[in-house]
Amino acid sequence: MTTRSALELARASYRDIALYAVDRTPCAIDLSDNTNLWGVPPAAARAVHEAASATLTRYPALYAADLKGALAAYAGVDRAEIVTGCGSDDVLDSALRAFAEPGERVAHPNPSFAMVPIFARMNGLEAVGVPLTASYDFDADAFIATGARIIYLCAPNNPTGTLASRAAIERVIERAPGVVILDEAYAEFMGDGFLAAAPSCGNLLVTRTLSKAFGLAGLRIGYATGHRDLVAEVEKSRGPYKVNAIAERAATAALREDMDWVRARIAEARTNRDRLRDALIAAGLAPLPSAANFVLVPVPNAGAVARRMREAGVAVRPFEALPAIGDALRITVGPWPLLERALRALEDARRCA
Ligand SMILES: *Cc1c(COP(=O)(O)O)cnc(C)c1O
Repeated sequence: MTTRSALELARASYRDIALYAVDRTPCAIDLSDNTNLWGVPPAAARAVHEAASATLTRYPALYAADLKGALAAYAGVDRAEIVTGCGSDDVLDSALRAFAEPGERVAHPNPSFAMVPIFARMNGLEAVGVPLTASYDFDADAFIATGARIIYLCAPNNPTGTLASRAAIERVIERAPGVVILDEAYAEFMGDGFLAAAPSCGNLLVTRTLSKAFGLAGLRIGYATGHRDLVAEVEKSRGPYKVNAIAERAATAALREDMDWVRARIAEARTNRDRLRDALIAAGLAPLPSAANFVLVPVPNAGAVARRMREAGVAVRPFEALPAIGDALRITVGPWPLLERALRALEDARRCA
């Protein structure tokens, strides 16, 4: 018997895909992942503590029927127009697999959500980045010109925080040859999106998550709305039992009982976001406009600055050489005392940069 290296046994197209690994060493103040820093919705916390042992020994619902009911009421669609998943990451990954054959293209804004080109490659697809316009809008014609089978859009966009125009998004939906996936992970911070309209568009899948505005990232719950035939294909591709039983109970409780809590945190996040932008401008920086719960601010040597801030107990997410933006830091919005600490740490880190 000959021994072969483990790498030789791996799928060739996977070999040069790096494991997603951002710095997640604990930090006193963590403003790096855009989660809700105000805590847990109370009914969700109660549901987790009260979960009976039968919840652990038995399989969860096949396709999260209770959760779909609560999400349908929240989204204003029929429950047959919802698909759930283990985070919206799972929904995105499953949708790429459902709507494109290996070798076909997925177009995405550049910069945008880093997982999308990774999921594309893991599904044998070619990812094609399309630059944002000078006003951070989507260039609808450039997206169509890629000939991509799937067009992924993100509004508000991560990591820029910017919001594309409704007109550009609608133009892509009207002219796309295949499915359009609109990632609205941060839509709660901007107001209205396409969540309720998606089922009547036919070719549009709108993804959302409970990880950001709802403060439930640890539960891993994401979902999408779309035409019932479209979401049924995603459900098939994703498979059964992907939302665990405790997560389903807690998320359903939050959607049914905690909306006032969630809305109050969203309002606070928006106020603090604008205040954080003003403070960054006052410090001589030029943060991008934001419709999300984070602010992207161009800063030279972002990697070194973020490292120094981390040493001072504040984690933010550095980006290097973003197209048309350059080095930048993405700062999650939270309670104001945390942002004050972050502003001080940023000032100190820049001074010795
Ligand atoms: C955080 C994020 C997600 C992933 O959310 P999960 O539901 O936690 O998997 C998806 N898209 C964007 C743009 C995000 O920033």
